[in-house]
Amino acid sequence: MPSVFIKTYGCQMNERDSEAVAAQLVAKGYTLASSEGLADIILLNTCSVRDLAEQKALRKMENLVAEARRERPNQVLGFMGCMAQSRGQQLIDLLPDVDLVIGTQKFHRTADYLDDILAGRRDKAVDVAAEANSQATIREHLVNGNAKTGVTAFVSIMQGCNQYCTFCIVPYTRGEERSRTIPDIVAECRELVSRGVKEITLLGQIVTSYGRRGHVAADVSPRHFFPDQLAPTDVGGFGSRRTTSPFVQLIEAVHEIEGLERIRFTSPHPKGYGDDLVEAYSRLPKLVESAHLPVQSGSDRLLKLMHRGYTRERYLAIIEKLRRVKAKIGVSTDIIVGFPGETEEDFDQTLSLVREVQFDQAFIFKYSARQDTPAADMPDQVQQPFKEERNQRLLALVNEIGSQRHRSLIGSHVQILVEGPSKKRPDRFMGRTRCNKIVVFDGSERHLGQIMDVRITRAGSFTLYGDPAILNDGGCQ
Ligand code: SAM
Repeated sequence: MPSVFIKTYGCQMNERDSEAVAAQLVAKGYTLASSEGLADIILLNTCSVRDLAEQKALRKMENLVAEARRERPNQVLGFMGCMAQSRGQQLIDLLPDVDLVIGTQKFHRTADYLDDILAGRRDKAVDVAAEANSQATIREHLVNGNAKTGVTAFVSIMQGCNQYCTFCIVPYTRGEERSRTIPDIVAECRELVSRGVKEITLLGQIVTSYGRRGHVAADVSPRHFFPDQLAPTDVGGFGSRRTTSPFVQLIEAVHEIEGLERIRFTSPHPKGYGDDLVEAYSRLPKLVESAHLPVQSGSDRLLKLMHRGYTRERYLAIIEKLRRVKAKIGVSTDIIVGFPGETEEDFDQTLSLVREVQFDQAFIFKYSARQDTPAADMPDQVQQPFKEERNQRLLALVNEIGSQRHRSLIGSHVQILVEGPSKKRPDRFMGRTRCNKIVVFDGSERHLGQIMDVRITRAGSFTLYGDPAILNDGGCQ
């Protein structure tokens, strides 16, 4: 059977989509190639969030086309994902050697199109149409393909985004929010746990919007709520009444799975981070003490222009509530520098917010104008050298705070879930703390999948080093 190599750009959602496509192909008899040179088919799963990601994938495909012409004339080449969705046929007009373009709602059709192309039933295929219920198609996980199922797994709970932040292309590439049903998600999680998975990360563009809008898969049972029945205004949002949001109900249902040790999720939207979700951390022991809360800017003026729906004060109030419930919770964020109109004063507000929150980690993005998004047409676009300079200043601050927080852990005991060999030091093993910090230690295969206590002996900028310990101080770092 033909072999396929998938290269993924972008976020964890893309990683998960690639894994599901690979699993579908393996189920149909395809094999997974260990390198591009050995593959009969190469698929690039693309990202459109920033121009850089698009350019990288385009350059990669240009090189693949050139190599295929020289060395592998029968190789099938395809684009999938966000850039495939936004550019469609244009990609084949630009690179006529490309055979396949698969949009974000059509991943499950990849094998059919490849079968047709390989059998000569069609020359090329472009499919970027919307498809009802496509959110329920990202189910399969690899078993014996590229990798056996690991200790941790990602589960896609929804597709699309309705936030329409003015900088963001995602609502246009991923479509409207559509949620899977709770029974469907729980069934997938149970299956993963039966295969040895100990930690599940629930994935979605805005997980806190889970189940709030229509487009629910048909098999939803009345007991499993859903949007309209459960949606008095502002359910679970700021100042909400004490109602449990569909997202928290989902976490509760996953929490019941026996054998599952840990639950994570990414990304929530600060706007949807209601009291019910904050309280869930104290009620549900499997929900680990970690929150990735994209703030984007510390300036209220910019937050408004970005259409984020919260203020700096409200953002800080959520962090405070979270730390009241779990003092040592790990907090990470996304920040954009150089958004149109960003002044030095706005940027100072971001720096001061970073100092105030003391993030454990922050992903910094230089603003990239995206086609058809409102911010691309805003006045006062920030010039590249300013973006670079602000990026460097912010990065220095974020790294300094991160390192201090890491160093403060030396000598403490933490609980880790052992995931496997360390990427940088394959002779050693790595695990993750509940607060999402990586710990490298001297371990072996027998530790895989175990929850262990380790004592932190040393701290690098992004990694902690530890010794297996007997005692646990009960805290979480
Ligand atoms: N769930 C996230 C949220 O709450 O906004 C959105 C996920 S987005 C795919 C990942 C990050 O990319 C965003 O949080 C934002 O910081 C960054 N990003 C999105 N659009 C961008 C753009 N046009 N330029 C630079 N960074 C961007």
